[in-house]
Amino acid sequence: MNPSNYLKIKNHIPSNVNILAVSKGFKSQEIKTIQKIGQNDFGESKFQEAFEKQLILKDLKQIKWHFIGRIQSNKIRKIVQNFKYIHSVDSFEKLQKISSISYEDKKNPFIMLQVKLRDDPSKGGFKPELLISKWREIQELKNITLKGLMTINPRGLSSKENSELFKKCRCLADSLQLPDCSMGMSGDWEEAIDAGSTWLRLGSLIFGDRS
Ligand SMILES: *Cc1c(COP(=O)(O)O)cnc(C)c1O
Repeated sequence: MNPSNYLKIKNHIPSNVNILAVSKGFKSQEIKTIQKIGQNDFGESKFQEAFEKQLILKDLKQIKWHFIGRIQSNKIRKIVQNFKYIHSVDSFEKLQKISSISYEDKKNPFIMLQVKLRDDPSKGGFKPELLISKWREIQELKNITLKGLMTINPRGLSSKENSELFKKCRCLADSLQLPDCSMGMSGDWEEAIDAGSTWLRLGSLIFGDRS
């Protein structure tokens, strides 16, 4: 864990770029340490792990929780009830289900739609053509606030390839008039900022290596 790394990045990035501190694999005590120096957005990728930390940290009302992991259909209600942002909505069916559950439970989560800009069997996500063809239907769904697109680049790309994919994501978001792009992780955040990211998802850079 390295608070000075956090502050260095925080002071280096443009003011329209947000940091999501990805705390998966780290303890609630470590979240507290970063929260004390001004970080209030935390990302988790497994519901159960996140929920345990949310209970421990429930008195820190400033914390906004973001779900960034693969969404299992049977966990959607719990995710909707416990997270303000959902970054990893990777299919129309899941989005519909989020919308109907949010309606029932009187919630209105901020949504990022995960897009897949290059074939990658290990990742989910909307293909851009599908997103565009479904766009009208997507916009009609109740009780969700569409904020932006999210992308995870395949591992092992060059800096130039990372930049190109991030720019594609930004272009697609702009064409749909979505303000946010959740893109850039510890290894590629600088390229992501140059391409127009508004949410960097940073784990190891802030918290250190996950054991
Ligand atoms: C783990 C994770 C991150 C953070 O990864 P680091 O390389 O540790 O910064 C970002 N986004 C998603 C979806 C993740 O699962």
